[in-house]
Amino acid sequence: MTSTDNTPFNPPGTPGYAEATASFQLAAPVDPAGAFTARSIDDVVRAVAVARHVSRPLLLNTTGHAMGRTAPLTDSLVLHPLLDQPLRVDPDTRTARVPAGKTWGDILPEITRYGLTALHGSSSGVGVIGYLLGGGISFYGRRFGLAANSIRSLTVVLADGDVVEASGTHRPDLFWALRGGGGGFGVVVEAQIDLVPMHRVLTGMTVWDPADAARLAPAWQTWARDAPPEITTSFRMLSLPPLPGLPPYLAGKRVIALDGAVTASAESDLPAAQRILDEMLSPLSALAQPVADTWAVASPQALPLTHLDPLQPVAFESDSALIQEIDTSDWARALEAGPSLTAFELRQLGGAFAVPASNGGALDHLTAPLLYHGVGLAGEETARDLKAVRAAIQPFVTGYTAPNFVDHFTQRQRTYDDRTRVRVERVRLAVDPTGLFAGDAAPTRD
Ligand SMILES: Cc1cc2nc3c(=O)[nH]c(=O)nc-3n(C[C@H](O)[C@H](O)[C@H](O)COP(=O)(O)OP(=O)(O)OC[C@H]3O[C@@H](n4cnc5c(N)ncnc54)[C@H](O)[C@@H]3O)c2cc1C
Repeated sequence: MTSTDNTPFNPPGTPGYAEATASFQLAAPVDPAGAFTARSIDDVVRAVAVARHVSRPLLLNTTGHAMGRTAPLTDSLVLHPLLDQPLRVDPDTRTARVPAGKTWGDILPEITRYGLTALHGSSSGVGVIGYLLGGGISFYGRRFGLAANSIRSLTVVLADGDVVEASGTHRPDLFWALRGGGGGFGVVVEAQIDLVPMHRVLTGMTVWDPADAARLAPAWQTWARDAPPEITTSFRMLSLPPLPGLPPYLAGKRVIALDGAVTASAESDLPAAQRILDEMLSPLSALAQPVADTWAVASPQALPLTHLDPLQPVAFESDSALIQEIDTSDWARALEAGPSLTAFELRQLGGAFAVPASNGGALDHLTAPLLYHGVGLAGEETARDLKAVRAAIQPFVTGYTAPNFVDHFTQRQRTYDDRTRVRVERVRLAVDPTGLFAGDAAPTRD
């Protein structure tokens, strides 16, 4: 195959190829037969036509945060959607139209200036559309639910080149399957999303010595069970490298870190938000003296800084599972099982996360109370420790996973029940009968 066969896809070794295959996840090589950055919807339509013509599978790479999730296909073509279109915010209808290629960091400043925000995740570097299609677990989630439920409509380039709108009234089956169905339905070129009023957030991190972990973790879990929906948190055993810019209590240290957000939609909500935070922190601080506490009132724009996710590409390996509450007697073993991991994390679910949406998609709620996510630098030690943690938490694993936290195609996963899976696959077959995008579909079952 020569490069001209795949035009406009760039062949390996060219700057265009390097741009379109650049990925956040360095542990998953991106080495397709050709790669192309689409700057317009016409570019996307052209790229889809070429992939169809040369009968090569088409994979999407927006930021590559989930590059390991789909099996490597070296004979594929990679499309990097990076549309030259502006974000359009309508403060009156509290909606935004987000073109493909934008990250949360690109769009949040434009949205928060209206006193609004979107249900973004912990990292500003993640792509908006990939995050939304995978459900979207945010620090607003216990109040507003999965971010996928905030999608009003999606504009999609299908395998046959048609540009269609999928919404509650147009192509409702496709709209349903796109939201949580595992990808591989087409190229979403624009998402229209609902925004929520957000005056301020209370956000920050409380840090403790890891020696206090086995006392703090069950107390946090008990609090988390009945916590008000305005607060969403993450409890981590965290080991960050000694990076410049990190505070001394985190750089090169192993700590317990509790972070997240309390919402204050209006200024008058701030006292109640502070009370909610105090109700969480006071009993925990009475159990063990924190090493540091940075919680403060902030603009919603600052929220993606709280969790300290890396912004530079990194070779990482992870495991995740939706889990039941961990028995008090098992906490110490779970917390100590992965000493080399960067993070042993539990995200607090419940609240609106557990409530099905009225016009929801294939994945519109999560019933488990907790999401486990273990992550470390790719390598033997991390692989060993991820297995050890998995063994320690096995009694509490529900068998289900949150698709956005499945980072590798070999990782155990199950998004929904078999009935939903059959319905999703029917939609996939209807819109992509030749499987042009099949390589981009994450398996939604082991
Ligand atoms: C550091 C880090 C922090 C994270 N934090 C959170 C978090 O707080 N909450 C959460 O829910 N998730 C989180 N994630 C997971 C993240 O949301 C998923 O990995 C998501 O799939 C990334 O989307 P992307 O487009 O950036 O990545 P990519 O790897 O570029 O894309 C992933 C998949 O998304 C689909 N996709 C992307 N763009 C399009 C498009 N234009 N049209 C159709 N399909 C598309 C494709 O199926 C593609 O294979 C985090 C991941 C990392 C690495």
